[in-house]
Amino acid sequence: MIPVSVFYRNLPLKTCVNCGCTLEEQHESYLHECERCMNEKEE
Ligand SMILES: [Zn+2]
Repeated sequence: MIPVSVFYRNLPLKTCVNCGCTLEEQHESYLHECERCMNEKEE
């Protein structure tokens, strides 16, 4: 059995759907864009 903590660590990182950069863990799970792309949309 693989420990759950290891299982989740091996999951592919989420990437921004707009620019393709890696999303950090602190982002809310429902977000699909990086902070930079979201800030650009605010303009
Ligand atoms: Zn982005």
